[in-house]
Amino acid sequence: MAFAADADRVIQALDRYLKESIAADKPVLSLEPLGNIIEDLRLADTIQNGGLSEERLSAFVETYLTKTTRLHHPAYMAHQVAVPHYAGALGALINSVTNNAMAIYEMGPGATAIEYFMINWFLSKIGWEPAPTDMSAYNSQSAFGGGVLMHGGSLANLCALLVARQQAAPDAWENGNPPALVLLAPAGAHYSIARAVGILGMGQKAIVPLAVDDRGAIKPDCLKSTYDRMRDQGKRALALVANACSTAVGIYDPLDEIGDFCQERNLWLHVDGAHGASALLSPQHRPLLKDIHKANSVTWDAHKLLQTPILCAALLVRDHRHLDHTFQQDASYLFHEKEQPGFDFIHRTVECTKAGLGLKLFLVLAALGEKGLADTIEKQYALAQQAYTWINDQEGFSCPVAPQSNILCFRIEGSDTLQLKLRDRLLAQGRFYISTTTFNDTRYLRLVLINPLTKLEHIQQLIKEIGKLKKEFPSKER
Ligand SMILES: *Cc1c(COP(=O)(O)O)cnc(C)c1O
Repeated sequence: MAFAADADRVIQALDRYLKESIAADKPVLSLEPLGNIIEDLRLADTIQNGGLSEERLSAFVETYLTKTTRLHHPAYMAHQVAVPHYAGALGALINSVTNNAMAIYEMGPGATAIEYFMINWFLSKIGWEPAPTDMSAYNSQSAFGGGVLMHGGSLANLCALLVARQQAAPDAWENGNPPALVLLAPAGAHYSIARAVGILGMGQKAIVPLAVDDRGAIKPDCLKSTYDRMRDQGKRALALVANACSTAVGIYDPLDEIGDFCQERNLWLHVDGAHGASALLSPQHRPLLKDIHKANSVTWDAHKLLQTPILCAALLVRDHRHLDHTFQQDASYLFHEKEQPGFDFIHRTVECTKAGLGLKLFLVLAALGEKGLADTIEKQYALAQQAYTWINDQEGFSCPVAPQSNILCFRIEGSDTLQLKLRDRLLAQGRFYISTTTFNDTRYLRLVLINPLTKLEHIQQLIKEIGKLKKEFPSKER
């Protein structure tokens, strides 16, 4: 079997790739036409002939790697996708070789145990009661926490709203949504929330926007009037969604006051912490999530701030019973009475064949320790602060909000179109990779400072480059 030899070739190629990326020897991205990539990689010939192994495999991987976007490059400042620690990638390899589809215990006891353990780790960070590891203590009388790992925060948000609906409208599974079911959410909620509302068949008009301040954060003082108006119109709230933090500008909603408001009304609070819940690891930034334990459900991605390779997202609930009762289905070959020393996750998620995602996160934590991860988060958040101060001081540049996380938006004086054109130029050059967003109806350039190697100097060079590029546009196009 050629496994070890071929794997060694792949690892050697990846090792060179990582070193080149870290040293910034190659462009951070290079966007060739798709057809050229298919040609260059000789995809059609390769599958026709088969037998890709040894030197040909090395050659293929080398070429493939030239067509990747290099997240390990210090000028990667674009998206909320982790620069993964290699230990997590080894976890992915182990998962793929063993292929333990662990939705049922018998298909992956080790993977299940790690997922159960990691879920308990997340729960305890939130301040919720972890689930017992002695299965005989697992019962429907006690309200300990629960959760499941899945492929992305978007899916976790959808599932969280399904759990919330099960509480707000218990017969919806059987009879469909009752009329007048609505969701309370700020306009700056991630698009997956609106998409989930669509998938749930509620219609986009069912989203009741919450009043926000000029940073996009929910105004707790306005919750009561919005809620009362909704109720007076005969509507019923499925849940309230709060951001921790928001996607566009990385601002945290005041969870403590929102939590009190929801608890008083027995309203389901879902905290979308896909990006920012990881700040719970940092003693310095934990207060941004004050009283998160008052929520009913939380989405928390490990593949953003926890240096874990895509995908590894946690859906967490304060009371496991809510999650355990959401998907009311029978599939006699999977769901049946059985004697087993473990736990099935299958009733908690959309997925049937389910990957053991816990191992990737576990191996990252095992390599860096919680403190190592927390230190990096603090460093990235501090860098956003420094960059904010510096950029705001530059003639012609401004930031819409002071950052609370590692997400920072800014713009150069000029039109919205200019911002987009400047980003296109930057991407074509391949020296810097940044993203863009609209916020309060204005177009911004956006940094996600997620690469631990990015320094203030890189951002300073970027800003100088943007200033220079702007001069290349005729004044009427600025
Ligand atoms: C990134 C993000 C999501 C989506 O998570 P995916 O893992 O990309 O599906 C949802 N909500 C917020 C607030 C996010 O930042």
